[in-house]
Parts: sequence; structure tokens; C-alpha cells
Amino acid sequence: SWPVHGTITGPLVMIGLGSIGKGTLPLIERHFKFDKSRFTVIDPVDTDAKLVTDKGYKFQKVALTPENYEEVLTPLLSEGEGQGFVVNLSVDTSSLDLMKFCRNLGVLYIDTVVEPWPGFYFDDTAKAADRTNYALRETVRKEKKKNPGGTTAVSCCGANPGMVSWFVKQALVDIATDTGVKFDEPSSQKDWAKLMKKVGVKGIHIAERDTQRAKKPKPMDEFWNTWSVEGFLSEGFQPAELGWGTHETWKPKNAKEHKKGCRAAIYLEQPGASTRVRTWCPTPGPQYGFLVTHNEAISIADYFTLEGGKKLKYRPTCHYAYHPANVAVLSLHELFGSAGKIQEKLHVLDESEIQDGIDELGVLLYGHKKNAYWYGSQLSVEETRKLAPYQNATGLQVTSAVLAGMVWALENPEAGIVETDEMDYKRCLEIQKPYLGPVKGYYTDWTPLDGRPGFYPEDLDTSDPWQFKNILVR
Ligand code: NAD
Repeated sequence: SWPVHGTITGPLVMIGLGSIGKGTLPLIERHFKFDKSRFTVIDPVDTDAKLVTDKGYKFQKVALTPENYEEVLTPLLSEGEGQGFVVNLSVDTSSLDLMKFCRNLGVLYIDTVVEPWPGFYFDDTAKAADRTNYALRETVRKEKKKNPGGTTAVSCCGANPGMVSWFVKQALVDIATDTGVKFDEPSSQKDWAKLMKKVGVKGIHIAERDTQRAKKPKPMDEFWNTWSVEGFLSEGFQPAELGWGTHETWKPKNAKEHKKGCRAAIYLEQPGASTRVRTWCPTPGPQYGFLVTHNEAISIADYFTLEGGKKLKYRPTCHYAYHPANVAVLSLHELFGSAGKIQEKLHVLDESEIQDGIDELGVLLYGHKKNAYWYGSQLSVEETRKLAPYQNATGLQVTSAVLAGMVWALENPEAGIVETDEMDYKRCLEIQKPYLGPVKGYYTDWTPLDGRPGFYPEDLDTSDPWQFKNILVR
């Protein structure tokens, strides 16, 4: 007896039937009323097309390109009455072009990442700055500024980016309450930033530990992961990027600022997937994570920025600190060790290939009165199997965020282009929580200075444990 959250009155198009698309499909069926005869799934690979056609929906085997996307989508989206919805869960398609196109037609749109057409991530003639998520996000911000309001297009609404922005607000409210800060629940961007400053948060890690174990050991020359290997490699080879907080007093030598745009983030001239940071999750306690670039590192830092004329009043540092599944860590080690040669075979573990484990995905807000607080989802693969088909724990955290974002878009169809930081976090978490396993908060005394220096001298900032200088593994 799952609740129906809304009605999609027009045509429904899902682009991409990969690991996330397959997992989103049953949630759409479960939670929305829609016209079966006007539901189309698009993917150039038809291996799993039966999942779609067996249910009476249409499957179109085609790769969207800059040349054909309007031609392919127009007939599908202009069929019959009502407001259409495009759910973009593909790689190698331009989120910006698709979102602009949908908004022109008055069709609702959602994606989980600002994805470019092919060529962007591995263009060896492009400057590092041009291969950043900062650059990608700025293209969407520019479009939002140029065409404010209008039909809703939700940008970057997966687990992260996505759900974690809702976690940040809940975590902030928890810390404010537990440290006795007097506050009213903020309702504007500025008030949220003021509250974060008042609570004394210096920074935020999107702190994730994926303990899902493969039943079989990973063979040599294969890259295994619990979600898109292509997606992970693209972002892993981009420069490491982080929202840059006002408390920071030191920067790595290869750190670069941007000259244009919101300027909330910097990037390092090195790939994120070989950049390690010290972080903390409830299950392992202290751990290394990879500082892989993500849209939320920039959007969260930007959202919680308090402007103050020429000088910024406040901004938290924010970045991803990701310990992927062990098979993915091993795959990365092998890849970078073999002079950066990507493995022959790329493989996403489906739920049946996983022995056990959880995806512990949350936000670690640090530097305040109670030191640090992790708030997030600890969904296991066992619980996932009971909740929804065709996905592992990592997948369900993403697909349930897509579900929440779709509901929000249906309830707010004229909100323009939005990021998840701008959405109603309570409503979204209310929809998503039944799929997240235990969602809990943990305080910790851990700091990145724990156990240091060890046997050898280190260049530390002992005056403030929460400096990036202490967090980055150098
Ligand atoms: P996947 O590689 O399993 O699937 C991607 C699908 O896109 C494939 O089926 C592929 O055939 C299809 N595709 C490729 N080129 C296409 C084209 N030109 N037109 C239409 N379809 C095309 O990846 P996934 O794990 O399902 O991830 C999908 C997207 O979601 C990726 O962009 C990924 O980065 C993103 N993602 C976001 C989050 C998040 O939390 N925000 C998490 C996981 C994945």
C-alpha cells in the first residue's frame, strides 16, 4: 500500500535506462498516476528494454545527440493533452539543452547531474577550469538568470547532488537545537546562511562510506562500482573541487580560483579520484575519502554564503569525501597505477552480485560547539531488496531522491530552474525517507588532527583542527 503522490497529466519520457533509470522505473509506477500509452523510455542500448515493453510502455532505441534531440522528443512530448514530464537519467546528454527545450514546451524536467554532451570530460585540449563542475553549473545559473521563473526544471536531484542538500538543512536545525541557539526556522537563503554562521559551522563533508561487498573478487583489468562506472570516471578525472569557506587560512599550491561567476569554489590541478581527505562516518569512524568534484560542493557553499558588500561575511567549506565500495577503490588504484589507462571492462554490480553492506551517505557539519555532527542514511542492500526491485542501496538513495524531486515539481510547476538547496527539504525528505533505511544523526569528537603527528613530523595547523590544511592528505 504505497501512497500515490501525484498525477502526471501529459506524456512522460525517461531518458536513460541504466542503473538509475531501471531503479526509478518501479518508483514512478508505484507513486504516480500517468497515461501508460504515453510513457516512453529512450536509450541507445536495449538490453533491458523488456522491463519497459512488458509493462506496455514504449521503448525507443536511440542515442540523443545535439542534432537529433528536438526531432526525437518533440513528437513524444506534444502527444495529447496535459503537462509532460522528462526524467533525464542518462549520460552523454546535455542537461542544459534538454532543460531549455522542455521549459520552452512547458514540460516539467528533472535530472541528477549537470551532464554535458560527449567530449567535455576527456577533452585534452580544454583548460582544467573549463572541465570543472563549476563551469557546468555556471551554464545552468546563467540560463536561470536569463530566463527566471517559468516551468519547473529541477537540476541535480539525486542522492548527491540532491538529497544531501536536504540533509544539510536538517542537520543544521538539529545542531542549532542541541547547542541551545535561539532561532526561527529560516525561510530564505539569506536566513539559512545566517543560521549556519550563527551555529558556527566551518565546513561540510558529504561523507560517504559504501561497505557493499561483491560476492566475487574483482578480476584484474575490470573497473567495478555500485553505480555508473562511466559517471564515476568522468567526475573522477575532473579536477578536485570544493566550496571554499571563509575560515580557511591556507590553500594548496595547485589551488585555483575562478574569475567569473559565483566564485564560491576553487579547484585543484589534480584529479579528484586521486585526491584523498580525512573524514568521518558512523560505521568506520575516521576514514579516507576521495575529494571527487560534485555539483553540491559548489551549490551548498554558494547557498550558505552570506554576502557583505566587498568582503564576504561567511561561507562554509564544502566538499565530497567519498569512500566508494572496496572493489571501486581497488579499481581506481589499478587505474592510476597503470599510467591512467582505463580498464577494458566496466561493470556496475547489481543487487544480486552483492553479498552484504550498506551505503552510509550523509553530511558531516564540523567546527561548531559540539565539534562535528554526521546526519544521513544508512541503507543496507538487504533492506533495499525488500523495498524496491532492480537496484542496490546506492541506487535506491538516488532513485528515491528523483521520486521526491518529481513530486515537488508536480506540486510546484512554475518554480523555474531550481537546485535542491532551494526546495522544501521537509517535504522532499518526507517523501524520500521510507526508502532510506535508518536516517540518523551522530555527534563525534573526532578531528582531522587525531593521532597526528605520528612517527614523522607533519605540517599541521594545531590552532584550528578544521582547516583544509589538516583535512587534505598531502
Ligand atoms: P549508467 O551508465 O548505468 O546509465 C546511463 C544510461 O544512459 C545508459 O543506459 C546509456 O546507454 C544511456 N545513454 C548513453 N548515451 C545516451 C544518449 N546519448 N542518449 C540517451 N541515453 C544515453 O549510469 P547511471 O548509474 O544510471 O547514472 C545515470 C546518470 O545519473 C549519470 O549522469 C550519473 O552521473 C547520474 N547519477 C547521479 C547520482 C546522484 O546522486 N546525483 C548518483 C548516481 C548517478
